[in-house]
Amino acid sequence: MPTIVPKTIPSNTDTEPPFIPLCIPEIRGNEKEYITSCIETGWVSSVGPFVDQFEQQFANYLGAKHAIAMASGTAALHIGLQLLDIHPNDEVLVSSLTFISSANAIRYINAWPVFMDAEPQHWQMDPQKLTDFIEKECIYRNKQLLNRTTQRRIGAILPVHILGHPCNLNEIRSIAQSYNLPIIEDAAEALGTKYLNTPIGSDSDIACFSFNGNKIMTTGGGGMLVTNSDKIAERARHLSTQAKDDPVEYIHDEIGYNYRLTNLQAALGCAQLEQLPQYIKTKRQIAKTYTEAFKDIPGLRPHQEADWAYHTNWLYTLLIDDQLLGYSSRTLLAQLAKASIQTRPLWQPIHLSPAHAKSQSYHCQTAETLYQQALSLPCSVGLSSTDQNRVIQAFQEFKPNLCSNS
Ligand SMILES: *Cc1c(COP(=O)(O)O)cnc(C)c1O
Repeated sequence: MPTIVPKTIPSNTDTEPPFIPLCIPEIRGNEKEYITSCIETGWVSSVGPFVDQFEQQFANYLGAKHAIAMASGTAALHIGLQLLDIHPNDEVLVSSLTFISSANAIRYINAWPVFMDAEPQHWQMDPQKLTDFIEKECIYRNKQLLNRTTQRRIGAILPVHILGHPCNLNEIRSIAQSYNLPIIEDAAEALGTKYLNTPIGSDSDIACFSFNGNKIMTTGGGGMLVTNSDKIAERARHLSTQAKDDPVEYIHDEIGYNYRLTNLQAALGCAQLEQLPQYIKTKRQIAKTYTEAFKDIPGLRPHQEADWAYHTNWLYTLLIDDQLLGYSSRTLLAQLAKASIQTRPLWQPIHLSPAHAKSQSYHCQTAETLYQQALSLPCSVGLSSTDQNRVIQAFQEFKPNLCSNS
């Protein structure tokens, strides 16, 4: 039998050290057994016992009322946005420093993103700048918020909890409440993350999760829409299964989507969910080891956990101060690549993306600085201590060079 996931990808030549990937899935639990049972029973597609079980167990894990399994995190965002009262040409206030899906989903419903900056401490949507934008650039009239520049109505706020750390939700919620705006949370990177001891998604109007290959747990590809509203749950289920009203006559009462997760994927999900608490523990331990090792290297600033946060450290990330260190994040990336160590910058902030060039943004300088300085390091759940030490040592070897540089 071929192994499904290579634990290490073989290097090109015998002289190169083994490649250390950034973040690969860990598949060592009941995955094979559950998948085999799908194959043996013939339940491989979008109906089957694992889909229901996965939804139930996921909702229980978070302490949320409903979880609806979707084909991807992006699909969950697309459906979620449709279920809020957002019309074509409305606007949605969204974090700029995020993976592009968060903004693409807004365009799928013909609404427009307006990009908000990150705060410098924890890199999440900045509630202060959100307030500034609303107070300085918008008018609130008849319970509607209008963007003065574009004359468009603002329909929702879409905060993204990035890298396993939560946004400051209470501040964002209080702003949303003042202006009568619903919130849809992009929690694709925040499974297991807590805000004030409460799991992200447990008390949300709508929160969307992803099980893509590099997320903290994976179904190969998949997502989940989580909500405490019966009505939203029912509508989400309906829309994600082609809005089929009558299963015998195939009568569809509106335009729906083929966005349902398959039983095969859900089988993976059930097995991964069993291991999730251990994954999170391991991620936090990996982060602790890195942060401890880097504390004496000037110019390296690891991502910090807020007092009110429980950080899963899904993707271990630090800031490189090139003034202090003598190297930029991109130089380090290239140097580490030569040592067969894979690292990655954060995403290009979406307000700079050619794909969203027509959308407005509000003073996103912090997102740009973080983009220049951040580097994510190898942090797979299966990262061995030998490999982690190799990464740490590679950084320590930069140190003497730096001293002579400064
Ligand atoms: C991964 C991710 C998504 C998209 O999830 P998919 O399952 O890949 O569609 C959306 N938002 C953020 C912030 C992500 O990291």
